[in-house]
Amino acid sequence: MTTHEKLQFIAGERRHGSSDTELTIIDPSTGEPITTGLAAATGDVDAAVAAARAAFPGWSRTTPAERSDIMLRWAEVLRSRSTELTALESRNGGKAIKLADGFDIPGVIDNVTFFATTARNLEGKASGEYSGDHTSSIRREPIGVVGSISPWNYPLQMAAWKILPAVAAGNTIVLKPSELTPLTSLLFAETAKEAGVPDGVVNILTGAGRIAGQALIEHPDVDMVSFTGSTPVGKQVAAAAAGSVKRVHLELGGKAPFVVFDDADIEAAARGAVAGSLINAGQDCTAATRAYVQRPLYENFVRRVAELMDEVKVGPADDTDTDMGSLISLKQRDQVAAMVDRARDSGAKVVRGGRIPKHTPTAGAYYEPTLIVDATQDSEIVQQEIFGPVLVVLPFDTDDEAITLANDTPYGLAASAWTQNVYRAQRATREIQAGCVWVNDHIPIISEMPHGGYKASGFGKDMSTYSFDEYTNVKHVMSDITGEAHKGWHDLIFGRH
Ligand code: NDP
Repeated sequence: MTTHEKLQFIAGERRHGSSDTELTIIDPSTGEPITTGLAAATGDVDAAVAAARAAFPGWSRTTPAERSDIMLRWAEVLRSRSTELTALESRNGGKAIKLADGFDIPGVIDNVTFFATTARNLEGKASGEYSGDHTSSIRREPIGVVGSISPWNYPLQMAAWKILPAVAAGNTIVLKPSELTPLTSLLFAETAKEAGVPDGVVNILTGAGRIAGQALIEHPDVDMVSFTGSTPVGKQVAAAAAGSVKRVHLELGGKAPFVVFDDADIEAAARGAVAGSLINAGQDCTAATRAYVQRPLYENFVRRVAELMDEVKVGPADDTDTDMGSLISLKQRDQVAAMVDRARDSGAKVVRGGRIPKHTPTAGAYYEPTLIVDATQDSEIVQQEIFGPVLVVLPFDTDDEAITLANDTPYGLAASAWTQNVYRAQRATREIQAGCVWVNDHIPIISEMPHGGYKASGFGKDMSTYSFDEYTNVKHVMSDITGEAHKGWHDLIFGRH
């Protein structure tokens, strides 16, 4: 008989899911199982939401300083368990250990520290006597129980981006991570408890999106839904939440343009394109997926990107020499491969990769770093998210054309412009429709600055103090300061006296 691990974290304790659906969590770089447990059923959703609801009055009335102290301790606990978290994140995601160690886990710890300190700085507008007869002030209040859904690509970071601003602002939360990658989210909730976060403030449900996820979004006692995932599922989430008029925050897909003008440092741009397209095996919503290169640089850029891709070592996630691990699943790998095949069949040229690499475990979900040219702007590979290690390069002639092409997809999450000319850079940052535009770089993020999309990439912000706008209600309090029984505006009712 299989021994089941408890894959739910409800009211401060690990529990078994009450469905009879068995979930096996896989290491996608080997295809080997890591653990098995039972998925959440709707009864578990009810229990988690009830725990969050019960915890809300107490947690929302803690002072900002109390929340801050607990979260600073949480950061300490995470630091003390960072080796364990790093190994688990790498293993569950098939991601190169140097990425988990250098980016995923330190990024999360920095986020915890950031929100611990900003919890004390929740601001409204200054109070004032705007009517002359009243003092107006603004209260920023937590919304209540947040239902959150996160994806598999950066499992812990995506969970942290939802959990941290919510709880720092005094909300409680039920988070459903991707059923492929729940392990570090569960450990995160355990570390919260260890640091003193009260039971029920952070709850984790492991289960299928269409069952546990759907039930969470539609739950009448959930006040707000925050979602990170694909645009098609994001639309379903928004539609489901509309039924009960819940506040919705959506971080969705991306198709970031990478625009290289003819005065750019070509070596910097080529390196940026390779790192920016292959990070996390390309499973990054801000990944550089379509590079537009001004014609005088185009051929040299393609040649240099191909050379640099040849240097990237694809291999097992736990090998410290590995530059790029596996994709998240064989299903995802096959979707990427099929998209590349369709591009090839429709006339695009695969300059590098486009295959499953040799010398990697056959049950692992590996794909070679892939470089594609000669695709058309309206083709699927240029218009749609690939979410794999694939870069498409296209030429352009004029600056106007570059901006038009950069904006010519449904998405608007991130973009970059490569130029040494300050005017070109300014124009690109103004005219490219994306939530983030980098200049002469692509990918870096920081806790202090917001992350979120335009257009079909969603709305609302993760990270930074802007995220408090998602997780707080703004209340106007207006107090009479005259002490008069007869107010001037009463004349609207009583007539003139
Ligand atoms: P999906 O949209 O397939 O899934 C995201 C989450 O939604 C998972 O937890 C999934 O559960 C859940 N889900 C699926 N169907 C439903 C439903 N009907 N109701 C409620 N929840 C549901 O995305 P992926 O997990 O495949 O992640 C990749 C996508 O996420 C990419 O498109 C990427 O661009 C986007 N993303 C966006 C980011 C951003 O900040 N903008 C950051 C990271 C990723 P389960 O899979 O367990 O069934």
